[in-house]
Amino acid sequence: MSIAEIDLHSALKKYFGFSGFKGLQEEVIKNVVAGNNTFVIMPTGGGKSLCYQLPALIKEGTAIVVSPLIALMKNQVDAIRAVSEHEGVAHVLNSSLNKTEVKRVKDDIVNGVTKLLYVAPESLTKEEYVDFLRTVKISFMAVDEAHCISEWGHDFRPEYRNLRHIIKRIGDDIPIVGLTATATPKVQEDILKNLGMSDAVTFKASFNRPNLYYEVRPKTKNVDADIIRFIKQNEGKSGIVYCLSRKRVEELAQVLQVNGIKAVPYHAGLDAKTRVKHQDMFLMEDTDVVVATIAFGMGIDKPDVRFVIHHDIPKSIESYYQETGRAGRDGGEGHCLAYYAYKDIEKLEKFMSGKPVAEQEIGHALLQEVVAFAESSISRRKFILHYFGEEFDNETGEGGDMDDNVRNPKNQVEAKDDVKILLQTVQNTNEKYKSKDLVQVIIGKENALISSHKTDTLPFFGVGKDKEARHWMALIRQVIVAGYLKKDIETYGVLRLSDTGKAFIENPKSFMMAEDHVFDDTTNDGIITNSKGGGAAADEKLMTMLKDLRKRNAKRLGVPPFVIFQDP
Ligand code: ADP
Ligand code: MG
Repeated sequence: MSIAEIDLHSALKKYFGFSGFKGLQEEVIKNVVAGNNTFVIMPTGGGKSLCYQLPALIKEGTAIVVSPLIALMKNQVDAIRAVSEHEGVAHVLNSSLNKTEVKRVKDDIVNGVTKLLYVAPESLTKEEYVDFLRTVKISFMAVDEAHCISEWGHDFRPEYRNLRHIIKRIGDDIPIVGLTATATPKVQEDILKNLGMSDAVTFKASFNRPNLYYEVRPKTKNVDADIIRFIKQNEGKSGIVYCLSRKRVEELAQVLQVNGIKAVPYHAGLDAKTRVKHQDMFLMEDTDVVVATIAFGMGIDKPDVRFVIHHDIPKSIESYYQETGRAGRDGGEGHCLAYYAYKDIEKLEKFMSGKPVAEQEIGHALLQEVVAFAESSISRRKFILHYFGEEFDNETGEGGDMDDNVRNPKNQVEAKDDVKILLQTVQNTNEKYKSKDLVQVIIGKENALISSHKTDTLPFFGVGKDKEARHWMALIRQVIVAGYLKKDIETYGVLRLSDTGKAFIENPKSFMMAEDHVFDDTTNDGIITNSKGGGAAADEKLMTMLKDLRKRNAKRLGVPPFVIFQDP
């Protein structure tokens, strides 16, 4: 080991008490210490903070850390202060500070005491702060949660767009460290471009979570009963159930409670005290289940969450990955169960209808990926990792058999000829259609867009009309994951041939495919299809009544709470 390496290890031990680096941390840190622009892509929990904290502590000057979440900044500052001799080693600079406090921060920076200065991006737009920061020694600038810069990320923040400009004003040659847990190629490209660091050395960790089991079930009228059954089979284990609306969170939490499950609701409409209380109950294991909107989870570090259920399918694969990622942090079992009905996708589309067109297009493209994920019968893990630009082989890759599609494979049939038809049609129509329109061309069904292209599309119209639209859609999804076709992101999903796709047309190979799942849409039609009994989805009033009754009875007679839903 060189002297520098020994220094890094002893600093790691001294400041953080860790005996070794995780994953790519050491390489990243060396690159940051060397003063290079650095781009770090690691899943949540991968240890990104250390990648800027450690270099900040050992480098001369102050590192500026931009982060969107004040609560997370405070946690980090407290943690760093706890292991340092001087309280001023880390500060948060934001609009809530009074004059004296701001002065103290500035003095600590000028005196070389402050190694880490956390700021929210909107605070950085304050002239006074920028003017001050120009005059002091800045070691580097870390942009945490850097995906906030991209509209294709799951958490776009317009203030992030100004960062490049502000960094330039603070100092032209300040090294930049961008960090994110968003692995989609488009978001990465946006980050590099918008932060003006296309020369950055990129460190990307694998996003595979081999201990998580992925499963998608059809969402029927009996979804509540199904969830109750699942939770009862996993009695005593910790889990999160995500719902789209606050109302559904409240209802479902009650339904679970009435059925004897220890569950609490969590959403942004609850007052802060209740939210903290419910979160603590979960962490302290006073409740097994939190029924929540996506407001729950950011920064929650409970290692033994054993299941994450999506009562409603999320709006992107990215969100799905982040939310399911809260299961099995300790490396133990983690079951990710999502309920899917196409009607829910339509609901999500409707939510977007008032938004600017570009935003709608992005939202729609992201939703189509969710549809493909849910309906496709290929490995869930392979699908997710492909979405993140990662190749995965189910035979050799870790966790290769950990999903419903791999465990219960559908019949595969030889589809070599169909792949050729598909790829040729993409080529012959000059790569201008998205999946849905391409399928229309292949089965010979016109729509306004296709009609407008009549002259060049007509010869290929109906080349595959002997098969159903659903067959071609399934094939497109599988051919994309196999790499023969690519979705062009700039045009929100127009299909293009890859080089291997072109080669396939010249020299077709065996291609085994399985048809997509068919999901019965029985969510809203009132038909109870589940033959196994259940019917726990009672209305709100009844639930409240039963709950009251249960409480009164329990008090008066000392009887155990009764159970409405009985597992058969
Ligand atoms: P991320 O920002 O990538 O989601 P964090 O920086 O919050 O991840 O780190 C996740 C957890 O891993 C934290 O609890 C942190 O203390 C821990 N951690 C980070 N680096 C190491 C290490 N080298 N050894 C042990 N634990 C580590
Ligand atoms: Mg982080």
